[in-house]
Amino acid sequence: MKLKIAAALLASAIAMPAHADVLIDNVTGITIDADGKVKRFEALVIDDDGKIAQVIERGQERPRTDYREDGEGRVMIPGIIDAHAHVMGVGFGALTLDLSDTNSLEEALEKIRTFAAENEARPWILGRGWNQEKWGLGRFPTAEELDSAVSDRPVYLARVDGHAGWANSLAMRAAGITADTKSPSGGRIEKLADGKTPSGIFVDAAEELMNAAVPAPRPIERDLAFIEAQKVLHSFGITAVADMGTTIEDWQAFRRAGDNGSLTLRIMSYAAGPDQMTLISGARPSLWLYEDKLRMNGVKLYLDGALGSRGAWLKQPYSDDPHNTGLPLMAPAQLRNVLVRAAQGGFQPAVHAIGTAANAEALAAIGEIAESFDGDRRWRIEHVQIVDPADLPKLAEHGIISSMQPVHQTSDMFMAEARLGEERLQGAYAWNTILEMGGRLAFGSDTPVESPDPFAGFAAAITRSNAEGEPFGGWRATERVNREQALSGFTADAAYAGFAEGRFGRLLPGERADFVLVDVDPLLATPEEIRGTKVLETWVGGQKVYDAD
Ligand SMILES: [Zn+2]
Repeated sequence: MKLKIAAALLASAIAMPAHADVLIDNVTGITIDADGKVKRFEALVIDDDGKIAQVIERGQERPRTDYREDGEGRVMIPGIIDAHAHVMGVGFGALTLDLSDTNSLEEALEKIRTFAAENEARPWILGRGWNQEKWGLGRFPTAEELDSAVSDRPVYLARVDGHAGWANSLAMRAAGITADTKSPSGGRIEKLADGKTPSGIFVDAAEELMNAAVPAPRPIERDLAFIEAQKVLHSFGITAVADMGTTIEDWQAFRRAGDNGSLTLRIMSYAAGPDQMTLISGARPSLWLYEDKLRMNGVKLYLDGALGSRGAWLKQPYSDDPHNTGLPLMAPAQLRNVLVRAAQGGFQPAVHAIGTAANAEALAAIGEIAESFDGDRRWRIEHVQIVDPADLPKLAEHGIISSMQPVHQTSDMFMAEARLGEERLQGAYAWNTILEMGGRLAFGSDTPVESPDPFAGFAAAITRSNAEGEPFGGWRATERVNREQALSGFTADAAYAGFAEGRFGRLLPGERADFVLVDVDPLLATPEEIRGTKVLETWVGGQKVYDAD
C-alpha cells in the first residue's frame, strides 16, 4: 500500500513539474526572436521563478500545468522597456502640479492659483510642465506674473523639458537671488528689459541656484513618489526602464522597495554624474538585484541642454537667435576624464547630446577613449537629436547606442525648423539612417518630459506624424522605421542597450515573463489604432502588476 502511494506520487511528480507552472493559453503572441525577427506564438508557460519555460506556437501541443489562464485571443507583446526615463520625476510629477495640459499663460496661472489653495499645508508650491511655446507667448513668463497667482509662498516650476525653471518673487528671495547675482557658467539668469532685474527664469545650470533653495523631499515622500511612478508606468505597459540620472536618494528608495517586496519595475540605473555613481555602487557597477529588477549600469552625463530653451549646443548659431550657439555643459578634458573613469570601472556612460556640436563632441570623445578601452562597452548617446550629416556614420562605430525618443520628433519638429532652418535638419532624428549605417537604436520617452505612452512613440516611429496626423505623409519620412524595428526599439533593443539581453525584453525561454496584454496588434493596426492602444494587463516576472479592470 505504502509502496503504491509512493509510486503514485512519483508518477505524478514526473507528470506534473515540481514547480507551479502556469500556462497562459490562447493569446495572439508577438515577440522579437533570438535572431531579431518577429515571432508569433499562441501560449506561454511560466515557471515559478517567473521565467518563461516554454513558448508554444500554433499547432504545438500544450503541456500539463498546475494553472491555466485563458488569454481570450488578446494580443500579448513583451513588456515595454523605456530606454530613457526619469523614474522619480514621473512619481513626483504625479504628486505635484502638472502644467503640461495648459494652453495659455492665463490658464496656467489659474491652475497654479487653484493648486495652491487646495494645498494650503505645502510650504512651497512645486510643479512642472509649462511651455511658453505651446502657450503662444513668444517669450518666457515672469516672476511678477507668477506673483499674481501666488504671493504668500515660494513657487518654483520646471519647464516641460526640465532645462529651465520659473520662480516667483518669494522663491527668488528664498534663494538669495538679486540683481547682483551672476549667471553661473553653463546657465543663464534671464533679465527683464532693464537688463538687470532677474525675470524669474533660470536656464540650465542657473536652475541649480533655485533647486538649492527648495526643501528636499523626505524619504517617505520619495517612497510615495516611487510607488506612484511604478503605477503610472505599468498602466502604460512599461515593465522596465533605463533611469537616467539616479541619485543616491533615488537609489535608496529603489532599494527600500526591493527590500520590502514592493519593487515591480525593472530599473537599469544610470547615476546622476560620477559622484553619485561612486556613492551608489563604489568602484564597479552593481550586480543585478531582486531577480533582475535593479542594477546600477553606468553614469548619465549632460553635454548640452535642450532645443526649446536654446540650450542645445550647435556648431553654427540658432537660425532664430544669430548670436547664440547654445552651451557646452562640460569642458573637453572634463568629459574625457569622466568617460575614462567610467570605462575603467566597467560603468556604461550615457551622454546627453542634442545639438550638432554636442553630438560631434560626444562622438569624438568616445572615439578617442574607445581606442584604449576595447570590448563590449555599448557607449550610449542620449537623444542624438540634431547630428551633422558628416558625423552620422560615426554613430555606427565602437558599438555606440543611439538612445532616442520618437515622440521628441513629433513634439519638436516645427520648433526645430524655426531654431535650425531647413539646411541643418538633414541629420535630425535620423533613426533610419542610423540603422542603415549599421548603428543601434533604443527607444524611450524621456518621461516626464513627454508622456510615457509607448504606443504614441511607436506610432511616431513608424509615421513621423503627430497625433493629428501632421504633417501628412510624415516629417522627413525617409527616417521612419518599420514596425518590427519600432517594436524591437521598445523591447529587445532597449534591453540590449542596458546589458539586459537574455534577462528580459523578449518572450523566449529563460527570460523573465514580462508581458503586456493589449487590444490591438501593433504589427497590423493602423497608426491611429496603435495610438489608441488600450493596455489591459501588465505582468512582470509572471506576476500581474496592472489590470485595467
Ligand atoms: Zn532625459
